[in-house]
Amino acid sequence: MKNASSIYYNSVNCPVCGMENQFEYLGKGAYRVEKVDTDYMPVGIQWQEAGLEECHPVLFFIATCSNCFYSTEFNNEFRNWKENNQFRSYSLPTIKEKHLEELNKPENLLSHVGAALDPQEYPNETAILKLILAVFDELLNSRPSFLRMARYYLRIGWVFRYMSGKRPEFKLSDTANLMAGLRKHLDGVDTNLIRLSSALTNLTSFCDNNAEELYPYIDKLTKAGVAQKYQEFISEVISATEGVKNKQEQLRNLNERVLKNVSEAERIEQMRFQGFPNFNTYLQVLTETLPEIPLSEKDALSIAKNYYKKSIRSRKEIKGAVQEINTFYLIGELSRRIGNLKEAKEYLGSAITRGRKLLNEKVGTELELKTVKNIVDKALIQVKPILENKGNQEVKVG
Ligand SMILES: [Zn+2]
Repeated sequence: MKNASSIYYNSVNCPVCGMENQFEYLGKGAYRVEKVDTDYMPVGIQWQEAGLEECHPVLFFIATCSNCFYSTEFNNEFRNWKENNQFRSYSLPTIKEKHLEELNKPENLLSHVGAALDPQEYPNETAILKLILAVFDELLNSRPSFLRMARYYLRIGWVFRYMSGKRPEFKLSDTANLMAGLRKHLDGVDTNLIRLSSALTNLTSFCDNNAEELYPYIDKLTKAGVAQKYQEFISEVISATEGVKNKQEQLRNLNERVLKNVSEAERIEQMRFQGFPNFNTYLQVLTETLPEIPLSEKDALSIAKNYYKKSIRSRKEIKGAVQEINTFYLIGELSRRIGNLKEAKEYLGSAITRGRKLLNEKVGTELELKTVKNIVDKALIQVKPILENKGNQEVKVG
C-alpha cells in the first residue's frame, strides 16, 4: 500500500502529544466511482493503483496519531490546526487533558483500539476503528459537533455495507490448489477409462462377428477356445475398470472432504480479529467503554440519523438553506434505510417542500439551485414507494 503513488503524505504534529506524523491522504484521481449511492456513499470503487482493491476510501478519511491515537477528520482544518486560535484556546486544552487521562488508564479504549489498527491486513475494520477513535475524541469536546459525529457514523455505516457487499471470495490456498489439480487428473483418468471400456466393447464385438474368418489355419475346436479366451480376458479387463472407477469415486469423495475442511479453516481464519472469533465480537467488547459503538450498518445509520436531527434542532452548525435541505433529505433517507418509514416520509417530505419553495423563489446561485433540484429529485424517488405501499397520503410532498 505504501508504494502506491496515488497516496501522498502530509506532515502534521499531533495536537495532543506533539508527535510529528506522516499522514496518508489520497491524491486526486486515486480512484474512480461507478456511482454515488442515495446516501452519498461512493460505490463501485476502481483504484488507480494495485494493492488497494480491498479498501474503501473511507480508510483515509481519519488521521490517527501513531503515538497517542488522537483521531480526527483529515482535512485542511486539521492540517492547519496551529493557526486555528479558536481550536487551540478553547477546544484543545480539554481534549488534550481528557485524551491523555484516558490513555494513562491501565486498560483504556485508546490503546486497545489503537493496537488493533492494521490497514494492510484489515483495511475495512481499521477504517471503522479509526472512525470510532475519532468519535471518542469528538465527544471530549465541551461542545461536540453534531454534524461531524453524523458524518463519522454515516461513514461507519458505509464501511459495514461495503464489507457485507464484498463477496467472500473463496481463495484457494496451496493445499486447495493441489486438490484441484488432483481432481483434474482424476477427470483425465476417468476419460481414459471410458475410452478403454468402449475400445474393449468394440474389440469384443469385432472378435464375435469375425470369429470364423479370423483364424483360417486352426481347427474349429481351437478357434472356439481362442474366442473364449478373448471373451474372458476382455470381460476381466472390463470388470477391473469398473473396480478402478469405483476407487476413483472414493478418491474423489475424499478430496471433497479435504477441500471442505481447508475452506472452512480458511473461512474461520479470515473471520478472526485480534484474538476474537470475529470483528463484531471485538466491537461488542468496546461497547463497555463507549456506549454508541455500532455493530452493524443499521446501528451506524441510526446513530448518524440521530446526530443529523440534533444538528437541525441546535440550529448552530447548519449554514444556509442548501445544507439544511440536504440534512432533511439525509435524515429521511437514513430513516428509510433503517426501516423507520414514518420518519422517512416526514423528513423526505420536508426536504421536498423546502427545496421546491427555494426553486420556485429562485433563491441562491445557479449551482445551489442545481444542487437543490438534485436533492428534491432524489427525495421524490425515495418517498414515492413509501407513499404508494402504505396508501398513506397524509404527508404532502408537493
Ligand atoms: Zn498524538
